[in-house]
Parts: sequence; structure tokens; C-alpha cells
Amino acid sequence: MSESYAFIGLGHLGGNLAASLIRNGFAVTVFDRDPAAVERLVALGATAATSPAEAAAVAGNAITCLPSPKVSEAVLAGPGGLLEGLPTGGTWIEMSTNGRDEIVRLAALASARGIETLECPVTGGVHLAAVGKITALVGGDAALYARHRPAIEAMCAKSFLMGPIGSAAVIKVITNMLAFIHLVAAGEALMLAKQGGLDLAQSYHAIVASSGNSFVHETESQLVLNGSYDIGFTMDLALKDLGFALGMGRDFGVPLDLASRVNAIFEQGKEAYGGAAWSTQIVKLLEDAVGTDLRAPGFPARLEI
Ligand code: NAD
Repeated sequence: MSESYAFIGLGHLGGNLAASLIRNGFAVTVFDRDPAAVERLVALGATAATSPAEAAAVAGNAITCLPSPKVSEAVLAGPGGLLEGLPTGGTWIEMSTNGRDEIVRLAALASARGIETLECPVTGGVHLAAVGKITALVGGDAALYARHRPAIEAMCAKSFLMGPIGSAAVIKVITNMLAFIHLVAAGEALMLAKQGGLDLAQSYHAIVASSGNSFVHETESQLVLNGSYDIGFTMDLALKDLGFALGMGRDFGVPLDLASRVNAIFEQGKEAYGGAAWSTQIVKLLEDAVGTDLRAPGFPARLEI
């Protein structure tokens, strides 16, 4: 019989991950502080619970996809939290993005209560999560990974066991650091193309086929050219991840000049457009500074597979 899962945190990412589990036949019990998010998953076949503890008690294992380590800690170890509901031998799978120290500390809290932890942050964006094709970066015990691999593979096309708890946080923060650097660079590239008198759509396609291409250019530049900027990931989350990256730079003794500059640009973006603005809107800072936009016909408002 397959494992069943509680799923807590049904936002832009978590809602899609939980839906993939349901689509693949897993029994999923859900909780979110937003009733509308719960309703969306119940309509797809999930069972609603009234607290993380209740969801965890019903399912025996729990997955979280929450905005910050502080919220993860409250949902795990606070009143009515997962540790009150999970049976001994149950697993907590943390899919939120955390720093290394944070996930190590939270896993220790779980371990003290007889609960094993697998960290499983994901990368690739909401559009890949929506079709069960996002990439999982896993940290934890190899046997525990094997036990939950069917669920991970229901949500993710690829998964990489990186090492013990904390190692997935490190690689996740690294890949997001690269993505934000690439995003700012892609915006500067498109602006140079526009101000240099080039056709923006043609420039987009030429870069895709060139040595300057990146995953971020292929995906997010399309949302810039459309003008929606709708990547399903906020400025606040970008700043959280860049904060983790800069912290790792300090801890590991690595100067991160580019990441520091990009962090400052995102601070400016948050000030200009708010923390709930899409992270892709960071390119609008340059559009506003130059006094022109980067629109071109033929690009979608949202990424689709
Ligand atoms: P989101 O803000 O869309 O979703 C968070 C969900 O958690 C919301 O539904 C919210 O109601 C719920 N929530 C908040 N506090 C809660 C609480 N105390 N109890 C129960 N539910 C609570 O965020 P998201 O974009 O889905 O991101 C979630 C996590 O995944 C973050 O750690 C983010 O860094 C990471 N992530 C996101 C993406 C993405 O593309 N959106 C990609 C990779 C990783």
C-alpha cells in the first residue's frame, strides 16, 4: 500500500505539488490557513483537516510548503502542529526553501520527537510543478528517500539526493542565487537590444540559440516581453533566498560580489513595487529607469508546458 500524506501550505507552489500527488492516486489530507486554498484541493479529491496536527494524525506522514522557516517552525512544532499528530516513525518532508542552519535545527526538533525528516526543496518554477515536472533537491537518509521516492516522483520529474540534511538547502540556495543573477542580466540584455534598435522578439529567439542563453531567459524573459511578469514567485521569496545565499557566503568564506549587487537590486524592487510583486518585475526597475518598456507580441502571460 502506498504512503499517505498530510500537505500543509497550498500556495502557488504547494497547491500544484499536492495536486500532483492526488493525480497520481495518493491519499492527501490538506491544511492551509487560507480556506480558499483548501477548497481548491478538496475539489481535486483531497480531504480537509482543521489543523496540521489533525492532518498529520490522519496521514501518518506530512509535507510542508511554507513561506519562511519561522512559519515552518510554527507548523511543525507550535500548538496544533505536525509533531502533535505524527505517529512515531512518521516522516516530515519539508519542501519549503530554507537555509541550511534552519532545516538542520528544525529536523533536530522533529528527531527529538521520533520523527524523521527529509528536506526536499524544489526548483524549476510553478509551471513545471503544475505538470509534476519540477526538480527535487533532496537531503536526508538514503533509505528514507527510497521510502518516499514514489511520492517525490509523483510531484517531480527529477530528484537528486545531495547528502545529509542541510545539503539540499545549500544547492537550492545556490541555484536560486544563479536564477536571480540571470534574471537581472536578462533584463539588461533585452534593454540593450531595445535601445540598440533591435526587434525584441527576434532578440529573444537569438539569445535562446546563443551562448548567452539561460533557463531564466528562456522562461522569464517571455513574461517580461508579455508584460505580465507573472512567474508565481514573489520579491519577498527572492529576498529570502538571496539572504540565505549571502549568509552562506559569509559562513563559507566566499565573496559573493554579484549576489550582493543583485540582492541590493531586489531590495530596490521591493521598495518600488512591494514584497508581494512577482520577482520577474525586477526588470521593471530598468524599464522605469530608461523610460521605456520591453514589450513584444507573441509571448504568453503565464508559462505553460
Ligand atoms: P505562497 O505564499 O504562494 O504559499 C504559501 C502558503 O502557505 C499559502 O497558501 C499560505 O496561506 C500558507 N500558510 C502561510 N502560513 C501558514 C500557516 N501558519 N499555516 C498554514 N498555512 C500557512 O508561497 P509559494 O510560492 O507557494 O512558496 C512556498 C515555498 O516554496 C517557499 O518556501 C518558497 O521559497 C518555495 N518555492 C517556491 C517556488 C515558486 O515558484 N513559487 C519555487 C521553488 C520554491
